[in-house]
Amino acid sequence: MPRICSVPYCKGNYPTGPKVSVFSFPKRPNKKLEWLKAIQRKDFVPNQHSRVCELHFCNEDFIVTASAFDGKTGKVVSAPLQRKRLKPGACPSIFNGYPTSSKKHVPRRDAPKEKKENSNNCKRR
Ligand SMILES: [Zn+2]
Repeated sequence: MPRICSVPYCKGNYPTGPKVSVFSFPKRPNKKLEWLKAIQRKDFVPNQHSRVCELHFCNEDFIVTASAFDGKTGKVVSAPLQRKRLKPGACPSIFNGYPTSSKKHVPRRDAPKEKKENSNNCKRR
């Protein structure tokens, strides 16, 4: 059975979701942190079974062909890969379905009233 995607709101490989290719988290701690930052899943610690699906990467992040040097002909031959692979530096960047992922949700400046009320509440506690 294919593994499901760790990204919040993504239904990759869920029974009700799309069938997708999935990728394990990078082994390098720095890179893994970069992925976690991008995914923004609260209190999530990926394990060896955690996966991120192809829906969160751009086309440029994938290696879809394998190239090999053919000694007989002296040419580089390339063939499409059966399974997509991720480029080494790839980082998930596409997150559809996040309620607040859009840049349209920048806090508006014309709502000072709300802010005041909130701070009053804090004082009372
Ligand atoms: Zn996904």
